[in-house]
Amino acid sequence: MIDKRFYGLILCLLVGTICFGCGGKDTARESSDPSVETIRDEKEDENMTKEDFMREAIALSCSSVEHGGGPFGAVIVRDGKIIARGSNSVTLLNDPTAHAEVSAIRAACSSEKNFKLEGCELYTSCEPCPMCLAAAYWAGISKIYYGNNRTDAAEIGFDDSFIYDQIDVAPEKRTVPSEPMLRDEALQAFRMWSEKEDKIEY
Ligand SMILES: [Zn+2]
Repeated sequence: MIDKRFYGLILCLLVGTICFGCGGKDTARESSDPSVETIRDEKEDENMTKEDFMREAIALSCSSVEHGGGPFGAVIVRDGKIIARGSNSVTLLNDPTAHAEVSAIRAACSSEKNFKLEGCELYTSCEPCPMCLAAAYWAGISKIYYGNNRTDAAEIGFDDSFIYDQIDVAPEKRTVPSEPMLRDEALQAFRMWSEKEDKIEY
């Protein structure tokens, strides 16, 4: 009897350890944010070509689909090394701005501790939408490489070419009309900014 109870205890401990291990991994995966994953493993990036960087962005786009995100991936490269990765997490995070490129730019700026990414290249699995293109400009990205183009994206239901078209339409005539108001009051912050001597310009 003692032997049976002893072996039973060992079995329970083993099963418990295995289940606990699996549960821990699942929890970690659920709680991790795939859009802000970064790496600083320089060895991994040694001798990578432009095609390798694009293939990494494409791999992220496929992985994103498998994990419930949109079919988009991006990497930021500085001096031939990947400094940040991003994938589309719009539906996962309920964040319409969580596009792969924006996510990668946020991750890169966070790891670089800088709001500018001058000298960096953006490799994205799809031609950037206007929001991501603007984010790349604001970040000072030096060059953008893209895989799929906006027509490919439109064919699977991601039509952002109409947003590009909207930019040329008068603000009041856009599908989301813009209407000016309280300009005189809003100008106060601009006057304050102009007069501020210790501001960080960007
Ligand atoms: Zn975008």
